[in-house]
Amino acid sequence: MKLWANSGDSHYNEPPDLYDALPKDLRERMPRSVKSEDGSYETIYVDGTSFERPMPRIGIVKGTKGRTLMEALQAPGARDWKIRRQDLDDEGIWGEVIYASVGFWNSMIKDPKLIAEATKVVNEWSADVQRQSIRHVMPAQVSALDIEDAVAEVQRAAGLGLKALGLPPGAPKGVPGFNRHDWDPLWDAAEEAGMVLTVHTGPPVGEDPVHHHGPGAGTMNYLYACYGGMDMAAMMAASGILDKRPGLKLLISEAGASWLPFIADRLDEAFRQHSEFVRDELTRMPGEIVREQVYASFQHDPTAVLTVAAMGFPNVMWGSDYPHIEGTFGHTQKTLHELFDDQTPEVSYRVRQGAFLELFPHVGPPPHEDATSRAPAATS
Ligand code: MN
Repeated sequence: MKLWANSGDSHYNEPPDLYDALPKDLRERMPRSVKSEDGSYETIYVDGTSFERPMPRIGIVKGTKGRTLMEALQAPGARDWKIRRQDLDDEGIWGEVIYASVGFWNSMIKDPKLIAEATKVVNEWSADVQRQSIRHVMPAQVSALDIEDAVAEVQRAAGLGLKALGLPPGAPKGVPGFNRHDWDPLWDAAEEAGMVLTVHTGPPVGEDPVHHHGPGAGTMNYLYACYGGMDMAAMMAASGILDKRPGLKLLISEAGASWLPFIADRLDEAFRQHSEFVRDELTRMPGEIVREQVYASFQHDPTAVLTVAAMGFPNVMWGSDYPHIEGTFGHTQKTLHELFDDQTPEVSYRVRQGAFLELFPHVGPPPHEDATSRAPAATS
């Protein structure tokens, strides 16, 4: 039996003409990746600076027009929205939160004017994509360098129909931290617009993604990239931002989910046992705020499902990481069956579909009528 799921963690590849609407002098400063001839490394150019990073050992594949094996192995729909929807149907994926790819390097831009103009263009393109299908949830991008620009763009993006606001896992250096009151107008604007805050995890702000070197580094660096999202969740809960705005929800994508109870316990421990040092003003325990307003997506983690089933944290959702080759493309059904076959219908539905639909009800259930695509309450 086919299990349908929504994905709280997917990506698009930016089309080459994405920033054509920008004047040439601005367009040329947007992030782009150029692969070396032998495929051993890529150079990322961003706003007048560049850096190199090694490519996976597999390198360039013959006959793929300079595409790396990583790109060649990507799902057929990685660069074509119509084929993408066919891929999703085949895999049993309905709605998706779709993040950038090269766009993650936008965080290296230092010029507020450049990022303000670029976010306008990318958000208009995102709205066009959303108009193709209700399945595509495209988080709006905003400047993290200028709070007024960010607020104005949230309002504009909401007017374009975007339902989520994509944020880095912390404010860049030289800008007030997200927990500072300077940012309150942004949280107010997001809440007023009914937008969900979404964070695709990455390393803690300002830290190099290649944090560890030597034995175990590759594996450890993937784990390290989860800490930025966890830290963002803790900040939004402990700072009072979520407490003051009970309608505001935060989704942390691709950092796993079984840290939710861990973070909640640790924040409560600090808030209660260290109350002589803690001066935060909250109307609720921070752990309760995490449990109610923070959502997290995972791909394969067996303990993520137990976070709902055994630990009572309901805001866990599955994610495919489509079209990345480390995601579930090609084995989505196998993964979903391994994760959910031994679970109750309620837990299975919650993690596959319910938590996602709570954040993005407009997406609705998959039109494919089968027992697994509906809430258990609706079928009993
Ligand atoms: Mn991802």
